[in-house]
Amino acid sequence: MFGRSRIETKTPDQIERMRRAGLVVGQTLQLMAQTVRPGMTTKALDELAEEHIRGCGAVPSFLGYHGFTGSLCTSVNDEVVHGIPGSRVLEEGDLLSIDCGAIVDGWHGDAAISLVVGGRDAGRPEDLALIDATEDAMWAGIAALAVGRPLYAVGAAVEDSLTAASDRHSREYGIVEEYVGHGIGTEMHQDPQVPNYRVREKGPTVRSGVTVAIEPMVTLGTAETRVLGDDWTVVTTDGSRAAHWENSVAVTDEGIWVLTALDGGRARLEAAGAAYAPLS
Ligand code: MG
Ligand code: MG
Repeated sequence: MFGRSRIETKTPDQIERMRRAGLVVGQTLQLMAQTVRPGMTTKALDELAEEHIRGCGAVPSFLGYHGFTGSLCTSVNDEVVHGIPGSRVLEEGDLLSIDCGAIVDGWHGDAAISLVVGGRDAGRPEDLALIDATEDAMWAGIAALAVGRPLYAVGAAVEDSLTAASDRHSREYGIVEEYVGHGIGTEMHQDPQVPNYRVREKGPTVRSGVTVAIEPMVTLGTAETRVLGDDWTVVTTDGSRAAHWENSVAVTDEGIWVLTALDGGRARLEAAGAAYAPLS
């Protein structure tokens, strides 16, 4: 996994195409966050997502991926990632992670958000802290991307951000290691893998035109996971709740463009002192 993996680069024109796919994903996730209510099934959310993706002239990339039956992954409470949309009825206070992928003209976008069903007022304080710590860690990882830097600086930044959150919240967070970020482009998953934790290796050096999905998965307990009998749903082995945030990101000599963020990442990158560099 940590060998010398190839790191493909994209041209500015290809990155612009990926931005179109990224915007479809970002808009779909925004719609999901605005729509989700207690009493809805995860399947109802999924149907709305598919309708929206297709209405944008895009194709849901998860649907049919190794036989997956949804356009979203909907992972509830102790489910970390890869939850299958179905008859489960969402309850007020559930911690829901929504992962979405779309293809426009052959180019992929991939992103995820975590939220509390019924809004933040309905959330347990520890869940809200987990959601925010995971989102912050994702942005710290993204801000660590720069041409000439080692790719695995991302994982170190994610881990450091979560360690700081642990200290502030007087709580241990578990960083899931079995699932990692990845290159993205004409396929959803390309080399290289991007760990969400500090490793001894530096990984490939980031070059201009690199596009990667950064996606920490963090729990309120163990980092250990197992896959349910449906062969997809990943849950924590101790039943602790988990959060998952993801964005697809392009790195150029000028800086960072977050392809799946509606504002291109501008607000969070500027807050972090990182170079925000949209190509258009
Ligand atoms: Mg994803
Ligand atoms: Mg991904």
